[in-house]
Amino acid sequence: MTEHYLDQSATTRPSEAALRALNDAPWGNPSSVHRIGLEAAACLKEARAAVGKTLGMGRVTRDRLIFTSCGTESNNIALLGTAAAKKRDPDNPGVVILSAGEHPSLENPAQALEKRGYRILRVPTAGGVLDLDYLRNALKSVSAPVIFAGFMLVNNETGAVYDVKSAAALVRAKFPDAVIHCDAVQGYLKLKKSGFSPYALGVDTMTLSGHKVHAVRGAGALFVSENAVKRKNIVPVMPGGGQEWGLRSGTENLPAIASFAAAASEGFAALEDRLSATASLRALLSDGIARLAEEVPEVGLNVPAGELQPGIASVRLPGIRSETMLNFLSGRGVYISAGSACSAAAKKKSAALAAFGLRDDEADSVIRVSFDHTNTEEDVRAFLEGLDAGVRSLQRKR
Ligand code: PLP
Repeated sequence: MTEHYLDQSATTRPSEAALRALNDAPWGNPSSVHRIGLEAAACLKEARAAVGKTLGMGRVTRDRLIFTSCGTESNNIALLGTAAAKKRDPDNPGVVILSAGEHPSLENPAQALEKRGYRILRVPTAGGVLDLDYLRNALKSVSAPVIFAGFMLVNNETGAVYDVKSAAALVRAKFPDAVIHCDAVQGYLKLKKSGFSPYALGVDTMTLSGHKVHAVRGAGALFVSENAVKRKNIVPVMPGGGQEWGLRSGTENLPAIASFAAAASEGFAALEDRLSATASLRALLSDGIARLAEEVPEVGLNVPAGELQPGIASVRLPGIRSETMLNFLSGRGVYISAGSACSAAAKKKSAALAAFGLRDDEADSVIRVSFDHTNTEEDVRAFLEGLDAGVRSLQRKR
């Protein structure tokens, strides 16, 4: 059976260059000062420069790019490191702003802070648009300083691109000491260059994840601006040997980091081609869904009202449970996910789809199809044929 992997937002297959870099990475500890350590340190430095370049960082810079193990760790360091940074009034420690429907790796640490007295203010994202008017008004009436504001760049379930730049500017104007964070995991190397540059967006911290961009698992990154470091607005949450400027202690996972750097450089060099390949596949997918919708009107796409990362499609089904369709397609070798892979595993209602504006029963009948330049038209056609067959046979069984 030919297999069609359309779950690129869950993880991606490591590229050949990424696997080569993994194998070729020096095995030494970058902190050792003998030859073997120095060789590893040089590889780490190169990898940092390579990933930094994709974000628009100069080779000589006071901004920092910290390697972590994954996007989840980067988000946790950003938020919890900010909360730990300053002495705060225990009765009113501060306000954390998040876009509604953030990934659990930011939402859940925020909920942990909420239990410690922080106030969490969620900016609505109905229809896939970050509500800037709501944010503007909320900023006027907050009763404690905003310490952190996190806006994801691309929603992992709907593909909606949020206007992080405008949101960051609003928060910055009123709370210059707040750490403004962007989880760019689903936008990194999936939008045009300026779309995922922390400089263009005006954020202090930015999360990346290697395995979403064709590196092996085990390496993520956190960009931290000089401003945030200098003002001591973020401090380490995991004391240890002091690697990565103390912000992420632990011997660096050099093979995974080298793999991340190779995949990032490759993706950056081929960005334009990759974006246009993905856009063509999107057009094919959208046409196919529109054709099916002529016969089965309940089928459709949850299309964000604003900008879209074209490689993520949220597909509505006519009352068929997401898992049922997922299993049907899986039986045909077409691999997609129900909402996001993480929320599906946790069997939780999707906060992202609720924030988009779907009722629970609607969110129960949504699948996520995600693709990129490594996919082919055959993959998309196989999905459309599978969807068509699934809708007809599963609907009948209902
Ligand atoms: N943030 C977003 C938006 C994601 O989609 C994901 C993973 O799906 C993460 C963070 C977590 O990344 P990782 O799997 O590297 O921990």
